[in-house]
Amino acid sequence: MNLFNLFGNKTFSHGIHLEEYKEETNSKSTRRLPFAPEIILPLAQNIGKPAKPIVYKGQHITRGELIAESTGFMSVPLHAPVSGIVKSIELVKVADGEKQLAIVITTSLNSGQHVIAADTYNNYLTMSREALVKAVQNTGIVGLGGAAFPSHVKMTTPESTPIHTILVNGCECEPFLTTDHRVMLERIEQLILGIHIAMKCLDAPKAIIGIEDNKLDVLQEIKPHLPNDGSITIEAIKTKYPQGAQKMLASALLGIEIPSGGRSSAVGLAIFNVATLAKIGLLLPTAGGYTERIITITGDNLSNPGNYLTPLGTPLRFLLEHAGFTGTGDASLILGGPMMGVPVSSLDVPITKATGAVLILDERATGHDEIMPCIKCSRCLQACPIHLNPSEMGQLATKRQYQTMEETYHLQDCFECGACSYVCPSNIPLVQYFRVAKKLNYERHLSEE
Ligand code: SF4
Ligand code: SF4
Repeated sequence: MNLFNLFGNKTFSHGIHLEEYKEETNSKSTRRLPFAPEIILPLAQNIGKPAKPIVYKGQHITRGELIAESTGFMSVPLHAPVSGIVKSIELVKVADGEKQLAIVITTSLNSGQHVIAADTYNNYLTMSREALVKAVQNTGIVGLGGAAFPSHVKMTTPESTPIHTILVNGCECEPFLTTDHRVMLERIEQLILGIHIAMKCLDAPKAIIGIEDNKLDVLQEIKPHLPNDGSITIEAIKTKYPQGAQKMLASALLGIEIPSGGRSSAVGLAIFNVATLAKIGLLLPTAGGYTERIITITGDNLSNPGNYLTPLGTPLRFLLEHAGFTGTGDASLILGGPMMGVPVSSLDVPITKATGAVLILDERATGHDEIMPCIKCSRCLQACPIHLNPSEMGQLATKRQYQTMEETYHLQDCFECGACSYVCPSNIPLVQYFRVAKKLNYERHLSEE
């Protein structure tokens, strides 16, 4: 029997099929990474305002302790990922090459690393919605899918736009990545609890967990844990890139189109990554702080690839040593997946709240082919999941006509999935052009205000 027929083949239009490269890590249980001798915690790890330190140089701190507080609603606190001593609060290099203020901690490697005794919310499911949202903020949680948007903000919806469905994104559609897959197999109770908390915060009657049909083991494992009243369901949809993008997920699961420039809440949806909700389900009952996350470490020249429970602030160099990296300095190092990840040049940058994967590409590295003229083959148009015209926008980008790209070709709707660049036979780095154009348009808008 073809299992796929049991679950239908819902999907969105356009998109691309990619080699998956997930087999190196998707069947391995998550392992805990040891504590690094030094931990580097940038204060700005979320969209919005950075946290404000409440510790001083030389202070002894305990794992799980609050060390930087939120500075407003669009901000989340930071908790100590290790017990140790505050070495400094200084500018450090982060993944994008910029420098940011960070709390640097010397780890007490012989301390046992017991987590500080926290409060408990015995009554968390009977709290008011406002109190529950505040409790989520206090955990320091942001979207673990990569956006780093504070989760409590997403859990606060104006009364004028009621949320009818929460979509729980377990697609993990980028090649190589298997963090969410492992979370859905290993953290099922926490995930279901996190979904209940999100439903309560948003007063949403229904939630759907969406997975790609390359993870049918997840479907079998989760189904027995779902409530009998049908309020939480799970559906497998077709494996296709970028199925995990919010617009594609809403389109595939419910046939709902999120309007151009609009938010998912405008059509009654709230969309969360599975790992985010599982982490909320883990932390909220004990009022714990977000201090560690599961990261996929995979790619070339690694003797020990896998999924590792990693303290935030762990330097990349330490992580790679433990994954048995045997390559040279020529390898491409990417935080995230090969399609939407961020290349990094330094091994001293730390893992942050939004880092879901470390990918090393050596022999499989791409992007060094010569750029050729556009041959008008229209493959990029067929690939673009939101039906933009990447070919035309690419031509305009080379002529620096960024304003036309926005006003006539809806550049602002491009969410930089890279599908157009991937299929282009002329090796035109379309998505890079679009990133630059969007940045320049943003700066132009700021200067016009
Ligand atoms: S990068 Fe932008 S233009 Fe290219 S396929 Fe993705 S959404 Fe479309
Ligand atoms: S895929 Fe490349 S060559 Fe083909 S139309 Fe698009 S930009 Fe031109």
